[in-house]
Amino acid sequence: MSREDQLRRRAKELLTKEGVVMVIGYRAGKRPGTATPAFVTRPEDADVLVFDDRCGTNLAAYLPRVKHRGKIAIVAKGCDSRSVVALLKEKQVDRGGLVILGVGCDGVKEQGRLSDSCTTCIHPNPVICDEMIGEKVAERTPAPDPLDDFERLSPDERWQALMTDVSRCIRCYACRQVCPNCYCPTCFVDASSPQWVGKTTAGSDNMMFHLMRAMHMAGRCVECGSCSRGCPMGIDLMKFNRRVAKVVKERFGAVAGLNPEELPALAAFDPSDKQEFIR
Ligand code: SF4
Ligand code: SF4
Ligand code: SF4
Repeated sequence: MSREDQLRRRAKELLTKEGVVMVIGYRAGKRPGTATPAFVTRPEDADVLVFDDRCGTNLAAYLPRVKHRGKIAIVAKGCDSRSVVALLKEKQVDRGGLVILGVGCDGVKEQGRLSDSCTTCIHPNPVICDEMIGEKVAERTPAPDPLDDFERLSPDERWQALMTDVSRCIRCYACRQVCPNCYCPTCFVDASSPQWVGKTTAGSDNMMFHLMRAMHMAGRCVECGSCSRGCPMGIDLMKFNRRVAKVVKERFGAVAGLNPEELPALAAFDPSDKQEFIR
């Protein structure tokens, strides 16, 4: 039985006999060569489900929005599963209300090329799941980190490179909408009292938005690349994400979305911490 057939069969069983009210997976998109999230609530609709290298959206982003409906099953690649772990740690989802259908991932293709975030992925298989659909994939040797080139630049050159990137931002917030970690009922960019960040697309307002978002992602971003792929302006948001994830790993020894028992890096407190300010 193919992986897709197995997925469809399990979705039908879960919806019919196992108390699941919705299966979140992927279906073919309207444009050729694309796939889009699918929210299957009736067993007879489960045959729309697909899984292949078009399926890039991080599906965990939908869990906080649909969890109130009841037991949810979710198709989870490596990065989706890490986001599920991040959401469990932050108490945004209840493990008992979830069925995680793990899938091994060979990477997402964009216009025939492996998506940038997938070139360095070292967790293509789910880090947590209730059952695997199909086999795990072989671990890949990650490509050289694209951040290396950026880090060789001087601080002024880095600032200029980031300014050039963010000056193209039109503040559509697609990057926020697709991110599993952006679930606040009122996002800081929408708050008006106080207004944390200017709402124009001037360079300084844009940079403030991106720096604040990067800080919010510290220790939480699983580097899935959904935000970069979703950006209509083609802004390389992974530069921010990778850099912050790297610093969190170096300073706190923490990698997002791997251990459900561990507090998020910036939410943990340890009196033996080296830094003076902690005491
Ligand atoms: S980062 Fe890319 S290769 Fe890794 S699990 Fe996610 S989609 Fe697959
Ligand atoms: S910030 Fe981007 S790469 Fe990180 S978890 Fe959110 S969508 Fe994925
Ligand atoms: S998706 Fe792109 S253009 Fe839209 S707010 Fe995010 S960075 Fe800016």
